[in-house]
Amino acid sequence: MEEKPLIMDAHLDLSMNAVEWNRDLRWSIDELRASELGMTDKPDRGRGTVSFGALREGNVGIVVGTQLARFSKQSNQLPGASWNSPEQAWAQTQGQLAWYQAMEFDGQITQITNWKELENHLQNWTKDSAHTPIGLIRSLEGADSIISFEHLQKAYDDGLRAIGPAHYGPGIYAQGTDATGGIGNKGKELLKEMERLNIILDATHLCDDSFWEALDHFNGPVWASHNNCRALVRHNRQFSDEQLRALFDRGAVIGVALDAWMLTEGWIRGESTPESKNVSLQNVADNIDHMCQLVGNALHVGIGTDLDGAFGTEQCPKDLNTIADLQKIPDILKERGYSSDDIENICSQNWIRFLRKAWEGK
Ligand SMILES: [Zn+2]
Repeated sequence: MEEKPLIMDAHLDLSMNAVEWNRDLRWSIDELRASELGMTDKPDRGRGTVSFGALREGNVGIVVGTQLARFSKQSNQLPGASWNSPEQAWAQTQGQLAWYQAMEFDGQITQITNWKELENHLQNWTKDSAHTPIGLIRSLEGADSIISFEHLQKAYDDGLRAIGPAHYGPGIYAQGTDATGGIGNKGKELLKEMERLNIILDATHLCDDSFWEALDHFNGPVWASHNNCRALVRHNRQFSDEQLRALFDRGAVIGVALDAWMLTEGWIRGESTPESKNVSLQNVADNIDHMCQLVGNALHVGIGTDLDGAFGTEQCPKDLNTIADLQKIPDILKERGYSSDDIENICSQNWIRFLRKAWEGK
């Protein structure tokens, strides 16, 4: 049997699942699903796809794990909780951090904050993946919880290495999905501080106005951890070809996301099913291919699934049961004529090269 390529998934809400969904990711997928039978508090109960075991089965050896908590006086909308003050949001992210640290203490994951650590991790994983903790890079999805730049400094000192300033709706530092408007002075100050600390800007979720303004005001490394193409599914959450080109020009890597509504036109949450809309990993490959054709190579696209980001198999590609099925993507790309180098680049090497450049300058 051919060896499974190493996969890096640039967007997983692991700690949100642990702390808000009460999922112990050390359990198997079957155990996790069984434990949620009959629960109705969230639409994805009993349909999770991510566990440490499933990540290992899929040779997903590096992940970007999020911390996320919005500040919003509006209703508590999915995904992730909204809090009534930035201080509560900060506290939530600190609980999420504590879970990552407990999982590191337990030997499940190992935090990666610089090139040396990433290089060591890759060596260990190649030598003996079964006994190597999964590599974790931490990112903050939505910056509302950053009460002050002292808090940002503390987050950086604790290992935070990427920030998406916005999430859903209006935010303190930038406007997100389904919102409009720029980043304002607060956003500009945040970007300046991120640049000083060499924190990666995650362009995902920025609304169009904030997206262009953020790119203008930030000179550090930019990626988009989980984003698909507006040319394939029209929605402000997706990037237009013009936005994609601007990101490619900046050396960005863009992770394709596996949320079904971002893969097919006209998805109705809670009504459409992966079968009724015929959503499969082929749609994921369509997004990969669109971006590769646009830039003219396979060097700027990666995987950023967002699996279990407040949705489960009810809103996933129909041929994905657990995250281990990401290993079907290499075969699909091969059938479409991608070389084994292209496939390795898309599965992990583009992210790794990006991080080397961001952290080492080369
Ligand atoms: Zn997201």
